[in-house]
Formats: sequence, C-alpha cells, structure tokens
Amino acid sequence: MCGIVGYVGPKLAAPILLDGLRRLEYRGYDSAGVALVDGPTITVHKEVGKVAMVQAVVPADAPGHTGIAHTRWATHGGVTQANAHPHTDMELGIAVVHNGIIDNDEALRQRLSAAGVEFRSETDTEVLPHLIRHHYKGDPTQAVIDALKEVRGTYGVVVAFAEHPGVMVAARLGSPLVIGLGEDENFIASDPHALVRYTRRVIYLEDRELATITADGVESVHLDGSEALHTVEELEAAFGTGDKGEFEHYMLKEIHEQPESIGRCLRGRVQPEAGTARLGGFDLLPRDLTEIPSVTIMGCGTSFHAAMLGAMAIEQVARVPARAVIASEFRWSNPQIDPKGLYLAVSQSGETADTLGAIKEVTTKGGKVLGVVNVVGSSIARLCGSGVYIHSGPEVAVASTKAFTSQISAMYLFTLMLGRTLTLAPNEAQHLARSLADLPEMVRAYLGNPGPIQEAVRHLVNARYVLFMGRGLSWPVALEGALKLKELAYIPCEAYAAGEMKHGPIAMMEEGTPVIVIVPSDANRERTLSNMREVQARGAALIVIHSRGDHQAASLAAVSIPVPRVHPLLTPMVTVLPLQLLSYQAALAMGRDIDMPRNLAKSVTVE
Ligand code: GLU
Repeated sequence: MCGIVGYVGPKLAAPILLDGLRRLEYRGYDSAGVALVDGPTITVHKEVGKVAMVQAVVPADAPGHTGIAHTRWATHGGVTQANAHPHTDMELGIAVVHNGIIDNDEALRQRLSAAGVEFRSETDTEVLPHLIRHHYKGDPTQAVIDALKEVRGTYGVVVAFAEHPGVMVAARLGSPLVIGLGEDENFIASDPHALVRYTRRVIYLEDRELATITADGVESVHLDGSEALHTVEELEAAFGTGDKGEFEHYMLKEIHEQPESIGRCLRGRVQPEAGTARLGGFDLLPRDLTEIPSVTIMGCGTSFHAAMLGAMAIEQVARVPARAVIASEFRWSNPQIDPKGLYLAVSQSGETADTLGAIKEVTTKGGKVLGVVNVVGSSIARLCGSGVYIHSGPEVAVASTKAFTSQISAMYLFTLMLGRTLTLAPNEAQHLARSLADLPEMVRAYLGNPGPIQEAVRHLVNARYVLFMGRGLSWPVALEGALKLKELAYIPCEAYAAGEMKHGPIAMMEEGTPVIVIVPSDANRERTLSNMREVQARGAALIVIHSRGDHQAASLAAVSIPVPRVHPLLTPMVTVLPLQLLSYQAALAMGRDIDMPRNLAKSVTVE
C-alpha cells in the first residue's frame, strides 16, 4: 500500500534508498526500513515512525550496492519494529518488501511453521521470504515465480538475495511498480516520484509480470513463464516538482494552485464560442453521445464526492440518468452492467484498489470504463485505455484539494459536451462554456480575499461536534468539507443533505454547536435558509458560505464567508475553497500533521 524503493548499480545503495523513501513520505506511512545486500547475510535497518529514524541508524557509508526499502502502512499486525519491512527468511539470505495483502497468509504460515519456520512478525508479508526460501534452488527468479504461484492476494513485491548481490526480483499483482532505467544502474519504486531525481526513463510493470533487474538490464516475464514485452516510457515533466515554495505545507500550496490546476484541466478543451468541449481521450462522437442510456461514475473518498457532482450535473444538464457509486460497495454488489452504458472511474492516483476492482467488475460484464485520472501512466489510466487526464499536477498532501476541483472540471467539460449535443440551446451552452472558462479567475478572486476563516476556526477548535449541510450540488460539497475536517483536524463531524437535518442531526444541536452551511444563490437557496433558521433556533452557531451580496444569508450567520457569484452549476468550485482553508487552518491551530494526517495514505492501493 505504501512505498517501495530498490537500487542496483555501482553506487552505495543506502543514500539512494533513503532519498527515495523521503520522496514517497507524502503518501503517509507508519514505519520504514532498508535492506542492504553485502556479504553472506543481508543487513536490515527498520524503525517505527519517520524515514529520518531509519536514516539515523544507517551509517552514511553503509556498504551494499544493491538494496531494497519500504515505508509501511500496516494492514496485518500492529505498528511495531518487528512488523516493519523488509522481512527476511531465517538465514537472512532473502529480503522482501511488499505492498498489498496476502489473502492466504494464515494457511501458508501454518504450513511453513509446521516445516520449522520461526516467524518474527505478525505480518502477512513475512510468509513471502520463507516461501521463496522454500522454493529456492539457486535461481532467484524461478524461486519468486514458484512462491508467487502459491500466493493469493495483491502485491507489489521486490526481493533481494544475499547469494546474488547484483539482482533484484520484482513482481506485481494489483499494486503498482515502476522500473527506472539508468546508466549502468537500475531502480525500482512503487511511484515514479522516487525515481525522477535519477532517471525519467521508466518501464511500468503490469499485473502478473515479474522482472529480474540487474545493473545492466531488465528481463521481464509473465508469472506463467511466458515472455513479457515492455515498453520504455518517458516520465512527463510534471513529475518531481515536489517543492513547497513559499508555503508552509503542501496542502496550502495545493489549495493556492487551484487557479492554475483548473486552468490546465480546461485549457484546449472548453470552447466558449462553440459552446462545447473537446475531450479527445473520451473518443466519443456526437452520435455516440446520443446513444448513452445512462452514466455511472465510480470513486472513493474525495473522488466519490466529485463523482456525485459529476452525476448530478450530467443528469440535470444533459438529462441522461446518472449516478455516482462508491467503488468499494459497487464492486462487491453484483451490479447490473449495461454494455451500452457509460462508466467513469475517478481516481487522483489512478491506483485506488477498490476503483480498480470496480472497473474490472464492469469490464468482466461487458461494460466499458473511461478513466478520470491525474497520474499519467497509472494503473487505472492504463487499464481503461481511454479517458481524461485532469492535469492537476502532482498532489503531494495526503488530503486532496486541487485534484478534487480538477476532477469536477473534467466532468463538467463532459457535461457541457453531452448537454450541447442533447439538450442545451446554443446560447445556454455558450453561457456555461464561458462560465467554465472564467472559473480560474473566480477561484483566484476568492483565494485573494478568503473572508474571516480564522474567526470560523475559533468556533471549530473546541467543538465536540460539527454539522455541515447543503442541498443539491452543495450536499457533496458539505460531505467533502466534513471529510477534510475529519482527515486533517480529527474533529468529529458529519455532513447532511440540509433537508435531512430535521430527521436526526437536529438532536445534536446545543448552544454554540457549529453548523457550516453551504448556501450559494441557486434554486435551493430559499429552502436551505429555512433549515438554517431551524438549527439557529436550537442554539447553533452558523458559519455560512454564501454568494457575495446575499445579505439575507449573511444576516443569519455567526460567521459569514462570501464567495464569488458564478453559474449555479459551478458553485461547488468556489464553495469548497473556504472549506479547504477551514480544515487547513483548524488543523494548524490544533498542531496536527497537516500533510500526513494520522492513519491515512495518499493512494489507497489495498481494499
Ligand atoms: N500487508 C503488509 C503489512 O501489513 C503490507 C502493508 C503495506 O502495503 O504497506 O505489513
């Protein structure tokens, strides 16, 4: 689930491995370790906590020109030094780093224990080095192939052998791995960010592929033994601009990058004069658009909230039945798939395991899925084959901000294209297209004058409970706001469609309970104002996000946060901004780890 780095070549491996792990830190993890191949046994250093803790115990000149390293996000067994990776066999001759989950670890553990293996950790991963040892007859590649034949589950795995100091064996099933090609040296990582400093030439390993990597070459095979052809790709320039600039945190930088990131997503696609959008990657002609019976948009977390907005927009504007589904539910619900229907998979990283699972469920049943993805070359992008890149640039903070607004932008472009074909009069379509094109400026205008965020934060930091509410498009925005506050500040809160508030959460209202209301000037405004009066009458302190100039909404507020007036469909793009800032500032005031909140990981590559 978390980070893997490996190196083989003429240099000392340790500094390269530690540098790579630091570049993967943004993904969130709980422990870290490195294994260095030098001499008859492999040397392992691992610690609970940050990469810096491992760095502190690895000598600067630690010997070994081959090594593997890991940041762990625990799934099996507590966060302890013994459970941190790398794991080794009993003789310290084989070391393994693993992302993912071994489903049949119990059965394998019992069998290996019966054969005399003594386990030193509680992890599922530890079965791998022992199993590889069991199959090892001198050929490292074959030993890994034979061991993996017995394994059920998901893995990105890299193995080092004391007896073969210049070799790494890597295999993937459901958890990404990318090989970096250097001059007389080669690298491997779970994420290209770890590689950009060293090379931009990469090979993405596919599911069920295994690679044997030495300093001067890479040989890949399918796990069934047949030859695998790999293509060398060039990493795009956007990778590796992982610098915080003038900002204290990546999250704040990414919030402020939104005028540019939204602009990048729209550029060359929105066509204000024609009142439509061009999405080359979707590969759908107007005639194809007329034949779409329904749209299903799949995602998890923030991407699910973006999916909700995409589905609402498509149904409201283009009048095509559309729904958003939680990928982790959908994939196991034996869903009916309409082969003519349109399925979209939304994921920032393009590696989200549940979304990948949902895509496979759709394609197994004859459906076609298009990706809405940020990371170029990611598993979802490649699995879908076609789709739209949101181009928000690398998002480093664990809590998503700019990817969310770009995901919505991409789906709104599709809404415009579909609406122009099916429902919208030319002038309506032009109005929407122009409003979309103006969005970066609107976002910039808000961020330049964000309103009394600190005043709102004072209501939040001591709150026992916070309610977010909104109607229509502002409901997913409320959900996203609550998710951000939980992720970053760990303040108990929930979001409700404002009309549902009376059916339960109103019981939570006490004198001073903060209620954050998203009430832009759209068709739902009046009804939301009534809900605001209802909670206010029970003592709530209202933090109100409203369109600039709405004095009525402002008059009900303990804290009033105006946002620019935009096309009603586009309100989420401006109303979410104060929510991002609120959770950031609340977390800052409470001394939280903003870019790496506890227990979270950037890309959730396990179920
Ligand atoms: N399942 C393994 C463990 O708990 C790997 C976790 C990870 O992907 O970081 O150790």
